[in-house]
Amino acid sequence: MSPPEPSGERRSEFDVPFNRPWVGDDEEEAVVAALRSGVLRGDGPVGRRVEERLAEALGVERVLLTTSCTHALEMAMLVLGVGPGDEVILPSFTFVSAANAVVLRGARPVFAEIREDTLNLDPGDVERRITERTKAVVPVHYGGVACRMDALQAVTAPRGVPVVEDAAQALGATYGDRPLGSLGAVGCFSFHDTKNVVSGEGGAFVTGDPELARAAEVVREKGTNRGAFLRGEVDRYTWIAPGSSYVVSDVLAALLEAQLDRREEIARRRRAVWEAYRDALSELEEEGAVRLPTVPDHARPNHHIFHFRVGSPELRSEVLDALRADGIEATFHYVPLHTSPFGRELAGGEPEPLPVTTRAAGTLVRLPLHPGLAGRAEEVAGRVRDVVARAVAPREGRS
Ligand SMILES: *Cc1c(COP(=O)(O)O)cnc(C)c1O
Repeated sequence: MSPPEPSGERRSEFDVPFNRPWVGDDEEEAVVAALRSGVLRGDGPVGRRVEERLAEALGVERVLLTTSCTHALEMAMLVLGVGPGDEVILPSFTFVSAANAVVLRGARPVFAEIREDTLNLDPGDVERRITERTKAVVPVHYGGVACRMDALQAVTAPRGVPVVEDAAQALGATYGDRPLGSLGAVGCFSFHDTKNVVSGEGGAFVTGDPELARAAEVVREKGTNRGAFLRGEVDRYTWIAPGSSYVVSDVLAALLEAQLDRREEIARRRRAVWEAYRDALSELEEEGAVRLPTVPDHARPNHHIFHFRVGSPELRSEVLDALRADGIEATFHYVPLHTSPFGRELAGGEPEPLPVTTRAAGTLVRLPLHPGLAGRAEEVAGRVRDVVARAVAPREGRS
């Protein structure tokens, strides 16, 4: 019954480290059992079990475990036939994976603006950017808070453009009653060390479409029909399409299975930390000193990220420095893709400005959030409030 503690001696220079995976004896036992079973490869009995369990939880036709969310996004671009001359619309305010998946197919990422409140893709801006060349739209559910999927689908569906949900951060969160990652043509999840449910590295490709499921199975198995062969549908297996090796080992699937058993415990603990931050900072929000995350009525979040925004990039630097000096490992999020060195190269000149994205990315502070903080939530949130209050206090009030 010992609480899970990170094994090994990973120690942070920070009193409150940004992230710590919540793994314990159960994960250790699951991994050892997988090793002893003799099946170390992927698409083995444990992986299949986890896939079925996730498919049921998400209410989808098929889940394919992958080596990462990045790879699941690459699979999505392959099965949707994205190629040279095509465009894929995605936010600039996101991680690089979806943009890479597009670029690797020889297609062009088109960066769209986010909404000021949720920092999620703005359907109105997607509509302005959609063309005959648009092959897919990739919304991100930032921090596990659902995008306005109805508004987005009102733009994409009439044009027959598939939506690929980058649900890397979104396991356990919903849009209305529907699990995120189950709403688009494809959903992509991450089980990276920093996400809510982890296998170190890992991901999942999710689809409700049987044809895409079959195509994805081929892509994941090096472009072969090995899956059909194993089901006895063909009498030998061979190369039938372009593909790669995106199958995750059963050893990591075992780790993931143990983590799924901990889902509720993880969710409860993350929520406690998230709410402690919100409560501690709400007065500063009322004073207009900070802006806290917006969770719309349509979204039931999974408390993946707690962030707040301050008035200016200069102030953000001061707040980050002050928090870090206090031992709290706060960070920024993200460096917008459209103004990154490679984003500029793709634009072939000065990129079109995305003011909401630039302002959000320049003023956002992300606080440490992991299950192990739950026992210290009040104390840490109180410290954050004091440090932030001092840092944002008017200049003339300081000596
Ligand atoms: C973490 C993350 C990814 C990448 O996930 P990996 O499993 O590390 O490849 C992609 N997109 C978003 C929005 C993420 O947060």
